[in-house]
Amino acid sequence: MEEIIVIIFGLIVGSFLNVVIHRLPLEQSVVSPGSHCPSCGVPIRFYDNIPALSFVILMGKCRRCKTRISVRYPLVELFTAFSFWLAYRFYFEQQPVYAGFCAIFLCLLIALALIDLEHQLLPDELTLGGATVFLIYAFFNPTVTPIAAIATAIGSALVFAGLYFFYLKVRKIEGLGQGDIKMMLLLGVFLGPDRLVIAVLLASFAGLLVGIFFIIFKGKNLQLKLPFGTFLSLGSYISLFWGRLILKAIQSLYMI
Ligand SMILES: [Zn+2]
Repeated sequence: MEEIIVIIFGLIVGSFLNVVIHRLPLEQSVVSPGSHCPSCGVPIRFYDNIPALSFVILMGKCRRCKTRISVRYPLVELFTAFSFWLAYRFYFEQQPVYAGFCAIFLCLLIALALIDLEHQLLPDELTLGGATVFLIYAFFNPTVTPIAAIATAIGSALVFAGLYFFYLKVRKIEGLGQGDIKMMLLLGVFLGPDRLVIAVLLASFAGLLVGIFFIIFKGKNLQLKLPFGTFLSLGSYISLFWGRLILKAIQSLYMI
């Protein structure tokens, strides 16, 4: 029963995340006006705004103008619900408050991943705003000491700032965005040193694979710009749940 409540709550939050992902990069308010069709502008009625379900009932089209609704909307809702369920299964029994903050962190990752993918942008509201919330939580986080959390956040942001200026001066390109530096504050302060290292490793590995794919199959060159924030989100998502397991596996490989 509890799990069903968690999933329904995840669907509702996912519906709000869709609004954030759509409006925040356009600097529109995320509260008003209410949801409306991006094509014909007609307000969406409450019974057509049921997460995931309405998309199926309307067969992916606006009730009035029949314009196709992006499949991203129900997918974000379903994925948010799945994420909440994961956080619940992993942490709720031992650390209910921590599980709640994991859910908030996952929401930020989902929003940052999709906004960076679409706009090559990581809004300060999410990176710095999120970092501030998790800085306060660092004093209550049962998985990382406050000193380790703050040192990881500042240290990793400095490393990324160093890389940013290195690329800018030496290679005359923006290899990383300033948003990535701010995002490290958020990731570092919540994940702590061990899981952040795994998150960045996974992100770099995923970025490398996608980069090679684009260079070989799509004829792009090495100046190709990839949304690193999307990969950082992906790496952090996996690392939040399995980072310490992955670290142990890597360590045991080197013990042999
Ligand atoms: Zn419409």
